[in-house]
Amino acid sequence: MTGASVEEFDVVVIGSGFGGSIPAFHLAAGGARVLVLERGPRLTSREYDQSLRFGSSATRIFDFTAGDGMSVLGGNCVGGGSVVYFAAMPRAPRFAFERRGSLGHRLWPSAIDRESLDPWYDRVAEALPIKRHSWDEVSYAGGAWAAICDHGGRTANPLPSAVDTAKCVNCNWMMSGCAEDAKQSLLLNYIPAAEANGCEVRELHEVQHLTRDADGSYTVHYSHVHPVDYRETVGTGSVRARVVVLAAGAAATPVILQRSEPHLGAMPDAVGRYFSGNGERINVASLDESALRDTLGLDRGDGRAYEAFQIGRGPVVATWDRQDENLPEFERYAIEQLYFPPGLGTILAQARTSDGGPGWFGLEKKELLSRWQSWLMLFELIEDDNEGVFGAPPPSGNAVRLSQQLLGRGTLRYRPRATTRAAWARADADVRELIEDAGFGQVEPWTNDLVGAYTVHPLASCRLGDDPATSALDDTHELRGHPGIFVTDASAVPAALTVNPSNTVAALAERSVQHICDRLAERGISVRYGGLLPV
Ligand SMILES: Cc1cc2nc3c(=O)[nH]c(=O)nc-3n(C[C@H](O)[C@H](O)[C@H](O)COP(=O)(O)OP(=O)(O)OC[C@H]3O[C@@H](n4cnc5c(N)ncnc54)[C@H](O)[C@@H]3O)c2cc1C
Repeated sequence: MTGASVEEFDVVVIGSGFGGSIPAFHLAAGGARVLVLERGPRLTSREYDQSLRFGSSATRIFDFTAGDGMSVLGGNCVGGGSVVYFAAMPRAPRFAFERRGSLGHRLWPSAIDRESLDPWYDRVAEALPIKRHSWDEVSYAGGAWAAICDHGGRTANPLPSAVDTAKCVNCNWMMSGCAEDAKQSLLLNYIPAAEANGCEVRELHEVQHLTRDADGSYTVHYSHVHPVDYRETVGTGSVRARVVVLAAGAAATPVILQRSEPHLGAMPDAVGRYFSGNGERINVASLDESALRDTLGLDRGDGRAYEAFQIGRGPVVATWDRQDENLPEFERYAIEQLYFPPGLGTILAQARTSDGGPGWFGLEKKELLSRWQSWLMLFELIEDDNEGVFGAPPPSGNAVRLSQQLLGRGTLRYRPRATTRAAWARADADVRELIEDAGFGQVEPWTNDLVGAYTVHPLASCRLGDDPATSALDDTHELRGHPGIFVTDASAVPAALTVNPSNTVAALAERSVQHICDRLAERGISVRYGGLLPV
């Protein structure tokens, strides 16, 4: 496997989201020869079209993988999830690091807690940058959610976010790529800074598996993906690396490792187990405009109280009252106002039929759709119980691709335990109390009943921990039993956080770099970790 034609790098990074781009930058800046292999295409802001038609930026840069009981939506492009995310960047609360789940022991390694991660969060906040928006910058939907919470005796506050509000035009199309460069994706900071330091980023390179070489290096085997029809392979190749940084995302990293097992030897038991969807669940409320005007006094100044579902950014306001560390595990959660484009909403929103049952077709659904501008979408982030398990890997790729872009069928199986179901029920009841019981509209669960659980925050499929039986990585992010393989993406996060996870993924990736440098030094490659900002 070490023929003369195989290119050699100090580090090959697999995936270019938060977990991949951050180490790529620091390692390249420290003098390492770094290659990033990314499955998806590279698009610039000019190519982000505000459309959901097939072949638009939306279908090119997204990946929707349907599983059994859990589907995952993620990025498929250079920049990964940062290109499609809503840029809500809260830090995980202190109690999230102390979680025990049903296992009954601390899930995070003892070396990591909120206090020890804070300096790394600080670095990410400066690099992107992240800021907490003022009430003047909050969207109508965020304002409506804040007013509803206030009426119910709750607090709600603006989220820290990586959006430059001076550039944002509130178009609400940030999900298919921000055409204004207002959203601070990795394409605006870490990736160009990595490239300025000699790092090479190759798009449309899908890694299939790894093999180990006699000297302890790894060979990374990839397919070259067709730029339009991702089902097609237009070539294959391999590159050698002294150290591999695996950051293909929590729905992909375990699949690559599972497929590599016949070549590398046994994987830790926790590879492909303990998946968490970050406890997500979406509800859609159809608000009563008169109640908003008469009871809350909402007024857009043009005679309309709200009717603004389509205006604004992603999540901007959340209520954190139930993020109380004195509450028992599975009773703590956040509820964020959120926006998904109507295209998805119209398919997945369920209407209540006259007999009280859910309906996705017919008159009730039509009526619900006709009021879409008065929708308020709410995102619950509860503590789930790490119930996801991946089956045997498909012959190639992360999932069986069902269409030329976007859709795949994966092997993830998810059966929520009573702990998780009760946590969702508690958050659902809270939303109903705040909206329905107060007379502000009708709330319909949006997902789960139709497609099973659904997440944009896949976590924990290759997690950190101190217990070798239930964690795949030690506290340096190195894969147990496989020196020189580091996992730095969301799969490393041990459990649901009750907040959006990218800030934590990014902080962990920052923290991992020194450990990767230490392993490189042992292999005779000196890389300086300078803690630079990606400018
Ligand atoms: C619509 C949406 C909105 C979101 N909003 C927020 C938000 O507001 N706040 C927040 O905190 N989080 C948000 N997220 C989640 C966030 O995007 C992820 O938590 C984050 O990107 C995870 O980082 P990662 O490095 O683990 O993986 P990713 O960012 O997903 O990066 C993995 C990369 O690896 C590539 N890849 C996969 N397989 C292979 C392979 N075999 N070979 C090579 N490359 C491969 C993928 O194409 C991808 O680019 C959102 C996600 C979505 C989908």
